[in-house]
Amino acid sequence: MKLTIPEHIKNLIPYPPGKPLEELEREYGITGSIKMASNENSLGPSPKAVGAIAAALSNLHRYPDGSCYYLAQALAAKLGVDAGQIVFGNGSDEIIALLAAALVMPGDEVISSKPSFLVYPKVAQAQGGINRVVPLNKMHHDLDAIAGQITDRTRLIFLDNPNNPTGSVFSKEAFNAFLAKVPESVVTVLDEAYLDFVDHDKRIDVRDYLAGPKPVVGLRTFSKAYGLAGLRVGFGLMSPAIADCLHRVRGPFNVNSLAQIGALAALGDEDHYQNTMTMTKEGILWLSKGLTALGLTPLPTQTNFFLVDLHQDGKAFYQAMLKKGVIVRPMTAYALPTYIRITVGTAAENERLLQAVSRTLTELAA
Ligand SMILES: *Cc1c(COP(=O)(O)O)cnc(C)c1O
Repeated sequence: MKLTIPEHIKNLIPYPPGKPLEELEREYGITGSIKMASNENSLGPSPKAVGAIAAALSNLHRYPDGSCYYLAQALAAKLGVDAGQIVFGNGSDEIIALLAAALVMPGDEVISSKPSFLVYPKVAQAQGGINRVVPLNKMHHDLDAIAGQITDRTRLIFLDNPNNPTGSVFSKEAFNAFLAKVPESVVTVLDEAYLDFVDHDKRIDVRDYLAGPKPVVGLRTFSKAYGLAGLRVGFGLMSPAIADCLHRVRGPFNVNSLAQIGALAALGDEDHYQNTMTMTKEGILWLSKGLTALGLTPLPTQTNFFLVDLHQDGKAFYQAMLKKGVIVRPMTAYALPTYIRITVGTAAENERLLQAVSRTLTELAA
């Protein structure tokens, strides 16, 4: 083979491939492990979504509706926006990639933070863009430093608010002051994957900015609060002009038919949503107390997960937890070697996690 592979593609680092749960269990000789590593919803998917998907299986020979018509109508009504301001994707991951594909030319610049969602620099590099990566300041986005990195080549700024992996948020005032420094040619992306878990008085409503002179795009997902991570549905809220660019770039059937049907049903499943909120809020409080009592430092969070400072090597801790059937996320890939990230689970899962943490601390101290 004589492939000519562009340098910027050769240098891309593939997303770290996790092993299937079943393989991990076989390797470690364990059963009934619990996964608290990927910020998924431990309650499971919305039962209404599951029912609607099951009822739709016999139509799998048909192509999906390329416009996501019914889902767009329902969501537009729920959010009080125009359907033309919504673009759906195969997860919000795809919207992130579409933004880069639509707006970034080779040599253009994209600003993101570190640590932050690893997808942002990846999609920029895939377009031949140049990443400017700004370190967090005390576990928060450094909005001043980010504004300081803007040049006339800047096309996109990615801000996950709340930030993954720290769970921290910035205020509306801080965001407004930041936006005042951003030129009208730069698109600011507010990734709101965890918005549902944010206290109401701490939320920034992206809808307030959609018609403003400074382009702002909000990203939301059905993967977290709605429990549909495996289905792959997310969406962006944006001006019709930006939406038009993304529609030009996207695949004609980028959201599959079951995903559209499941997401639509989940939107109407108020019980599941409220149960998720209750489980998450209670779990965060309970785990926060428990982890602190064990001498660890969980950071304040506005999400369904914690970043926890173990004050010791996170990888070894993660492996010792794995042997007890509790899967958490080591933070080596995020350059936080003494931390792990823990997703809140059900009350029973949280108890099991805390017991495993306690035993691991004893073991590793011995
Ligand atoms: C989980 C997550 C998403 C959602 O990704 P999907 O592709 O919609 O599953 C987006 N951004 C951040 C920061 C996340 O943590």
